[in-house]
Amino acid sequence: MTAEQIMKIFRDTAYVHTGGSAEELQAANYLKDCCAALGLEAHLETFEVQMATMKTAKLYADGVEVECKGYLNSGSHEVEAPLYYMPSNDKVSISQVKGKIVLLDSGMGAWTYKDLCENGAVGFITYDGNTNYVDWDIDQKELRSFVRADNPQIPGVNINAKNAVKLVENDVKTVKIVLDQDEYVGESRNVVMDMPGEIDEIIVCTAHYDTTSLSNGAYDNMSGCIGLLGLAEYFLSHPHRYGFRFIFCGSEERGLLGSKAYVAAHEEELKNIVFNINIDMIGSIMGRFIACCTSENELVGYVNYLGLEKGFQVAPYQDVYSSDSTPFADKGIPAISFARAAGGPVATIHNSYDTIKLMKGEHMVKDIDFICAFADRMANAVRCPVKREMPDNMKDKLDRYLLRKR
Ligand SMILES: [Zn+2]
Repeated sequence: MTAEQIMKIFRDTAYVHTGGSAEELQAANYLKDCCAALGLEAHLETFEVQMATMKTAKLYADGVEVECKGYLNSGSHEVEAPLYYMPSNDKVSISQVKGKIVLLDSGMGAWTYKDLCENGAVGFITYDGNTNYVDWDIDQKELRSFVRADNPQIPGVNINAKNAVKLVENDVKTVKIVLDQDEYVGESRNVVMDMPGEIDEIIVCTAHYDTTSLSNGAYDNMSGCIGLLGLAEYFLSHPHRYGFRFIFCGSEERGLLGSKAYVAAHEEELKNIVFNINIDMIGSIMGRFIACCTSENELVGYVNYLGLEKGFQVAPYQDVYSSDSTPFADKGIPAISFARAAGGPVATIHNSYDTIKLMKGEHMVKDIDFICAFADRMANAVRCPVKREMPDNMKDKLDRYLLRKR
């Protein structure tokens, strides 16, 4: 793919497409058409996701309305209670939450939610944005099913950072949250495409295509989807002993739901997967290229050598990556996630600033070339060199990431 063709895909997909929405389906069909344009046939695999339509979401601070968005799937309630600002979830802070609506500096994670519920909090407020940004954007958040887990539903709202500061600065005493929403089960989808090799074993390549509520998702992560298309195009004209399965994952931003659904629905076939190559955020104007290896540590050295051989800057390391590689790694499939990591000041994500403006077609081409070189080695190996087994340190990190251990 040329830089021009790549930039056209960014322009064609420059709209919000959150997991489970009609726009996500539109983006899925667009990617299917991109595969068809290469002469490859992709299909959609649907999976169930929890959805909600918010009818009313209000927040009042000492009687004055504050702009907010209600947490989807956090129930319908009307609650008035003292405001408690909790900047940290240490034991002292947690012991103060009973009967209160809690303002958090962090997003809503599973352990924090459990702590709040067990200690009697009656509601919560999170914020995003930045006090220095000109916008008053508020991301649409949800109470994820695995965050709620076995705990009760307590209402939550998300507000802009500027208003969060005001709540504390003005010593607001009482806040009231009113939520009214319809919750239901909907559908999200993965786009799956096969390129058989000479043997039955395959390498699975993943990249998510959904966005968060304010983002066009150019950098995060149409860039990775274009990376998959680049890999597919490369292997149309290069031999590969191992077969490929390409999965454009839906609902990653909602908690890796597409890749989790895929491994659950294809349990039997997982034994044929020798390796996972995941791409999540490449080709930005700024940033350093990283390779997160959820595998034995030997892969880190291998990628280092390949970077030196190709004259390509790459910083590999061993860790669990917060992306679609993780459900595969959790099934014992070694994984590598490629990204061009740029700092927030030059390429922020999960907000309205993630657009084509962050991207550079020529960087996309270079990044895809390196990923193809790496994939070529793996795909033509007599035996996939990466051990198909998770080392204990990665098993421990997976347990923590997937909330089996705190
Ligand atoms: Zn992403």
